[in-house]
Amino acid sequence: MENKFTLTGISSVAMHTTPKVFPEYAHLTPIYATSTFTFDTAQQGMERFMGEDKGNIYSRWGNPTFKVAEETIAALEAFGLKDENGNQLQLKALLHASGQAAMTTMFMSNLKAGDKVLSHYSLYGGTHELLHKVLAACGVEPVIVDMRDLNKVEEAIKNDPAIKMVHMETPANPTISCVDIEEITKIAKQKNLIVSVDNTFATCYLQQPFRYGVDFVFHSTTKFLNGHGTAIGGVLLGKDLNFMKTKAWKWHALLGGNSNPFDAFLLGIGMKTLEVRMERHCSNAEAVAKFLEQHSAIAHVNYPGLDSHPDKAVAQKQMKHPGAVMSFELKGGLDAGKTFIDKLQMCVRAVSLGTVDTLISHPASMTHFGVKKEERESYGITDGLIRMSVGIENIEDILNDLEQALK
Ligand SMILES: *Cc1c(COP(=O)(O)O)cnc(C)c1O
Repeated sequence: MENKFTLTGISSVAMHTTPKVFPEYAHLTPIYATSTFTFDTAQQGMERFMGEDKGNIYSRWGNPTFKVAEETIAALEAFGLKDENGNQLQLKALLHASGQAAMTTMFMSNLKAGDKVLSHYSLYGGTHELLHKVLAACGVEPVIVDMRDLNKVEEAIKNDPAIKMVHMETPANPTISCVDIEEITKIAKQKNLIVSVDNTFATCYLQQPFRYGVDFVFHSTTKFLNGHGTAIGGVLLGKDLNFMKTKAWKWHALLGGNSNPFDAFLLGIGMKTLEVRMERHCSNAEAVAKFLEQHSAIAHVNYPGLDSHPDKAVAQKQMKHPGAVMSFELKGGLDAGKTFIDKLQMCVRAVSLGTVDTLISHPASMTHFGVKKEERESYGITDGLIRMSVGIENIEDILNDLEQALK
C-alpha cells in the first residue's frame, strides 16, 4: 500500500499495511479458498513458473490471503527498525499451518546432519520434542545449557564447532524465564552462528529481536497474534530476503506445512487489535501478579514484572511490558492445585495462551501428566504449579474469581 506518510504506531501498521482495495471493492481481505490459480495462456503459465509473472500458481506455494497476513506480520516485526545501511528493515514472512510447521521449516532449512543447535533448557514442549526426536533422528543434535548464564553459552560455542545455530525462547514456560537476546546474539555472531528467537509469548509489540541482529524470528500465531483462539498457525520471519524466497520458501513448500485461507483470514483480523489487546493483557497481568504475590495460599509467583523474578532486569531491558503469562505455586501442592482449578467460575480451564479470555492450566495434571514427577520437577513443574494466561476481561472479575477459588 502507498501510505503518503510514515505510520507512527503498530496499530496503524497492523490495519493499513495491505491493500486498501481488494477485487470487487471488498473492505476486508477475501478468503481465497482455492487450491490452484488459472493461466490465460501457456506463455503466462511459463512466466509464472520462471518468476517473471508474480501471479499465483498453487496454494501450497502461496495464496493471496496468506500474503496479506505475511506482509502484515513482516511490517509489525520490522516496525521502526533499521538495516545495516540505515534503511527501514525489510523482512519476509512465511505463514504455516502451525507453529510446529514453521519451526520445522526454520530448523530444516538451516541445518543438516552433523550440525548442532544450542538452546536453553526452558523451551516450549513441542520445540523440546522436535529437537530431541525429529531433528535428532535427522542427525542434528540439540545442546541444552542454561542460557541465562552467558559464560555457559560462550563455553558451549567455543568447545563445539558443530554448533551452527543458537535458538532462544524468551519468555518461556514454566517459570517465565527470560534470556538476554542482545548478549547471546553478540556471542553467537562472533562465530557467525545462525540466531533465532521464538517471540510467541512477547509478540512483536512487546519485543523485537531483529533489533539485536538475530536472523530469524518465529511465532506460534495461535497465541497472542491471532488473539482469539480461532486457529492454529505459525510464522517464520527472516531478514535475508534471498534465503527466505529461495531455500526457506522451498523447504516450506516441500515439507507441506502451508497455512490455509480461512485461518490466514482469521489471523489477519486478530492482528489488527494486537496493540490494544497487549496493553490490556499486560496491565491485567501486572495486577494479577501483585494480587497473587500477597495472597496467603500462594507460595510463589513467577512473573518477570515482579522484583522476586530472577530475570526481571533482562525482561525490562528487551520488553515493553513483562507480558501476560505467569505461573504460581500453591502452598497445598497437587490437591490444592486441582481444587483451585475446579473452583474457577469465570477463568477458563484450558491449555494454550494468548486468547482474549483468561486461560488457566495445571501442568502436573494436564500437559505434563505423563511425565515422571522427578523429571517435570527438574523443569520447575512442581505439583502445585498453576499456569495462567491473563486475558482482557475486566480486572475486578479476574481478581474476584481467583479470590473465591483460593478460599
Ligand atoms: C504454542 C507454542 C508453539 C507451537 O505452536 P503451535 O501453533 O501449537 O504449533 C511454539 N512455541 C511456543 C512458545 C508456543 O507457545
